[in-house]
Amino acid sequence: MSLRPTIDFLLHDWLGAESLNQRERFADHSRETFDAVLDTCERIAREKYAPFNRLVDTQEPQFDGERVILPQATHDAQKAYAESGMLSAAQDYGIGGMQLPYTVEAAANAFFAMASVSIGSGMLTTGNANLLMKHGSEAQQRVFALNEFSGRFSGTMCLSEPQAGSSLSDVATRAVPDGEGFELDPLGPRYRLKGNKMWISAGEHELTENIIHLVLAKIPDAEGKLVPGVKGISLFIVPKWLVEFDNPHPGPLPQAGEGAKTRHSETDALPPLPLAGAGWGEGARVRLTERNDVALAGLNHKCGWRGTTNTLLNFGEGKYPVKGEAGAVGYLVGQPGRGLQCMFHMMNEARIGVGMAATMLGMAGYHASLDYAKNRPQGRPIAAGGKDAAAPQVRIIEHADVKRMLLAQKSYCEGALALELYCARLVDEQHTGDTQAADDARLLLEVLTPIAKSWPSEWCLEANSLAIQVHGGYGYTRDFPVEQYWRDNRLNMIHEGTHGIQGMDLLGRKVLMENGKGLQLLAGRINATIQRAIHTPELATHANALGQALAQVGAATKAAWATGEPGDALANAVPYLQAFGHTVLAWIWLDVALAAQVSADAPARTGRLGAMRYFFHYELPKIGAWLQVVSARDQTCASLPEAAF
Ligand SMILES: Cc1cc2nc3c(=O)[nH]c(=O)nc-3n(C[C@H](O)[C@H](O)[C@H](O)COP(=O)(O)OP(=O)(O)OC[C@H]3O[C@@H](n4cnc5c(N)ncnc54)[C@H](O)[C@@H]3O)c2cc1C
Repeated sequence: MSLRPTIDFLLHDWLGAESLNQRERFADHSRETFDAVLDTCERIAREKYAPFNRLVDTQEPQFDGERVILPQATHDAQKAYAESGMLSAAQDYGIGGMQLPYTVEAAANAFFAMASVSIGSGMLTTGNANLLMKHGSEAQQRVFALNEFSGRFSGTMCLSEPQAGSSLSDVATRAVPDGEGFELDPLGPRYRLKGNKMWISAGEHELTENIIHLVLAKIPDAEGKLVPGVKGISLFIVPKWLVEFDNPHPGPLPQAGEGAKTRHSETDALPPLPLAGAGWGEGARVRLTERNDVALAGLNHKCGWRGTTNTLLNFGEGKYPVKGEAGAVGYLVGQPGRGLQCMFHMMNEARIGVGMAATMLGMAGYHASLDYAKNRPQGRPIAAGGKDAAAPQVRIIEHADVKRMLLAQKSYCEGALALELYCARLVDEQHTGDTQAADDARLLLEVLTPIAKSWPSEWCLEANSLAIQVHGGYGYTRDFPVEQYWRDNRLNMIHEGTHGIQGMDLLGRKVLMENGKGLQLLAGRINATIQRAIHTPELATHANALGQALAQVGAATKAAWATGEPGDALANAVPYLQAFGHTVLAWIWLDVALAAQVSADAPARTGRLGAMRYFFHYELPKIGAWLQVVSARDQTCASLPEAAF
């Protein structure tokens, strides 16, 4: 079974991705170039990722005291991904990118996540480099970001500390100016950092020449005290290896569109636009000089996602003194005290990426269990006269309960994929739409990002659990891949903001921001779908059900905040997140069903409409129970004394 028809349907029949080509930024693209990108990624994922997914799970990263050792397959996958050009797919031609719409980039990356979610850590590198393209100085972009886009360097995000996970205001890593003239360093104001960063993904390895850590730290005041809260947090580039560089092209990097001509003449012979690391723009000539004072304190041994190292890093403890002194050298990005705002640029992208990863792990389990169900004979149907023991066993896909488990998975995973691509389309709108459309997209993304991150993390994990169930006892063994998918997926409710934190972000901030305008915009989009569906006999009942669900969410939002007390409202933020998410997914499914209705492929159409019906019949009614405790500001959990547990 192939993922491609589902991707093609969602991209083209539903989202009309080709229409993006009418925008100046994407004018060189066409259905053919989009297909070429998808073909290439599908092939690399099939050849370099999927065959090694179990291997990277069983051969965990090892630290020999000097170096972290990873399987050769991880090196090969990393190289193939970098050579495809995907690290900079969305970047301008002028710096070697493809100016690919993010919608298509996200769809193409889905193949990798499904084939082996942890073998590559490209998402972190792209996010890191994108952040520098937005907030870094010109030198920081040329020296660090461009070398990340080319695959020579890789990137991390270093936020968490042992005592500061959800609560980033408690970050204790300190950054002090590095001697006289510290502010004149060509790479940005130079500081020395000391502190410990916990859980850092891809924090140590030999996959790339250098690792560019983006580190949150606090600059002490004149008395040496750290400013409490997030206001005191700044952002620093801390490379594993310090660098020196010549800049043969001083001046700003080419702007969007510039350089396109050069690229064309280079690539005209290779229609369509090739996926190749063609020309790395105007990067500086960079040499690694000495080891920076960043040391691996240990590798974390995880439940899943084992292909990527996860590390405790010590910054500035003196293991690798720089110029005879302890302290990791770091270069300030942007303004002091604005570090978290800069980091949010990376975190929002990362959250859509996490949602997509969760979705594709769910999808991998769905495909595996569907295949198993079609082949496993077990049991016989019950007819009016009982079972006919003499008849041959039927395949388990013929049992209604197995079909229920398969349809649940399909509705969670294909629905989640549609949601992620919808959000990716909003990112393109935000970047290339007219002023009003771009601002609407920004606000819609604010409201939808907690759902895009959390909903697949919870429900595509549930899909993985059902995939194990479909396999029976075999699913609980390592002979089949589904247990690994579940273990890999279990991470997604934890990192990039836990489920609880996302719920509080949604109910405590996102639905209230700008006087509730984001929520109103979303309601407007949902109502537009309802209006289209209500005139379609097959969809009218569902359109009405969605209308009622939307009204329930609106009423519960008001009721939750009726006392104005955050303690009352937020005690049930996760049930709110679940109900909000299910309502959003019902909307996405109804909208997808409108496109499916007119599509030609009969079995696929039947499948999509079946998954939509499953969602409306079995899932959407759950929101009543979730919203009831929200509306009542139920304190059953919040008020139970600790001693009573
Ligand atoms: C495999 C893996 C990879 C990671 N990669 C990175 C990375 O690359 N970079 C990075 O910086 N971090 C990374 N993290 C860290 C991750 O973001 C944190 O684990 C996460 O933010 C939670 O922090 P914590 O583990 O300290 O849990 P805690 O913050 O201690 O939370 C524990 C529980 O308490 C709940 N809780 C905490 N505070 C509140 C509150 N105020 N209200 C209600 N509930 C609350 C949480 O929801 C959670 O259920 C990674 C983690 C893992 C496991």
